[in-house]
Amino acid sequence: MKIFNTLSRTKEEFVPLEAGKVRMYVCGPTVYNLIHIGNARPMIFFDTVRRYLEYKGYEVNYVSNFTDVDDKIIKRAMEEAVDASVISERYIEECKKDMAGMDVRPATTHPKATEEIDGMIDMIRTLIEKGYAYEVNGTVYYRVRRFRTYGRLSGKNLDDLISGNRTLLVTGEEEKENPGDFVLWKPKKEGEPYWESPWGQGRPGWHIECSVMSKKYLGEQIDIHGGGEDLIFPHHENEIAQSEAVSGKTFARYWMHNAFLNIDNRKMSKSLGNFFTVREIAAKYDLKVLRFFMLSAHYRSPLNFSAELMEAAKNGLERIETALLRLSEEAGKCPEQAPADAAEKPLEMLQQLKTRFEEAMDDDFNTADAISVLFELVKFANTLEPSRVSRADWDAVRETALLLSDVLGIREPVKELLDADIEALIEERQAARKAKNYGRADEIRKLLSEKGILLEDTRDGVKWKRA
Ligand code: AMP
Ligand code: ZN
Repeated sequence: MKIFNTLSRTKEEFVPLEAGKVRMYVCGPTVYNLIHIGNARPMIFFDTVRRYLEYKGYEVNYVSNFTDVDDKIIKRAMEEAVDASVISERYIEECKKDMAGMDVRPATTHPKATEEIDGMIDMIRTLIEKGYAYEVNGTVYYRVRRFRTYGRLSGKNLDDLISGNRTLLVTGEEEKENPGDFVLWKPKKEGEPYWESPWGQGRPGWHIECSVMSKKYLGEQIDIHGGGEDLIFPHHENEIAQSEAVSGKTFARYWMHNAFLNIDNRKMSKSLGNFFTVREIAAKYDLKVLRFFMLSAHYRSPLNFSAELMEAAKNGLERIETALLRLSEEAGKCPEQAPADAAEKPLEMLQQLKTRFEEAMDDDFNTADAISVLFELVKFANTLEPSRVSRADWDAVRETALLLSDVLGIREPVKELLDADIEALIEERQAARKAKNYGRADEIRKLLSEKGILLEDTRDGVKWKRA
């Protein structure tokens, strides 16, 4: 499997630190508002990376934070005259609802910055002791000159950065030793949330959060670190400077960054009025369509959001879901053995498609190509006639289609059962039992229970109710 590493700017073979395990960290949103569809791109993409790694058999420890202390949150709290935690808690809950709608699985751990302040103070203290940081009037700065490889991830040269910054100096910045130095701890301002620290009451800078949470939940070294490409500089550059100065080891092996989502070929921004929250999209579409749309392009290509592309995504997803539903509904019509004159050889075709799907995903998670292969699989499955395929082969087609779909977060749609359908199935189950076909009887019970139908065997026959 190959991954494009921002650090080396090449595709590299993926070798985890520990065989069979992957430790990955993805920078999460700042929770001051409903998330927008740009934020959804890394959530959906990295969830797919995780799913594919699990498909390959890795045990994945996936950590993604919520930044719940920040200027924007404080501003919003002041506007509403509430505590900052009211704002952040509200939008963490809303974000989780959006994630569930997009079928983004919860991370192994979702740490919150405000619950990790002690760890941040510890790390800042270590950085000061090692000479990588200094305090001036209650503010602690990172001394970028001291970290020799500063600028390696972003390809920026420290001298250029400094001369570029010099003209941008704002009041208060003169106290820095160097214009490129960044804040690790800042003193509190009136009305802001604060914590006690060796440098007085204040709050941490943004970059230190991720270094601390990554270390606490994943260890000093991790396999994959991800986020949107806007985070390469300064956020990820600074995370490396902090973490590596403390541990003396390489922080993350593979740095992955998704390109931006634009709207109508323009940068999404509030001032241009082309800005959508995930919630606004949910009013018009099932959020699984948004997910499918995001995966229809390679993650390192900019992606343009438009009504036409969403319609195309909706149709494409429906085609796959309809095929999955047919594969499950028609299974009962398959004979034990395929008829003698059946020419179809589903298993060979299936193996070929599965290999091609894996090749696409192994090539730096090319979800666009993987989706094309899934379409081919669907097309092939639709040509199969249940009466001409053995039950075992049909099940193999169905299982492969479900397995590959699941990597992309696509599932068989839940079809509401009508009362008549339920009763017909119960009758079929009774007949199967009478014929001692317990396999089929169990299958029907399972199918009904998956759809929330509970069966109860009583003296007067089978009773059922919706859960
Ligand atoms: P933020 O809440 O701004 O820190 O962003 C959370 C995540 O969303 C980060 O990984 C950003 O890089 C990513 N992100 C923000 N805007 C966009 C966009 N328009 N397209 C793709 N990713 C974005
Ligand atoms: Zn981060």
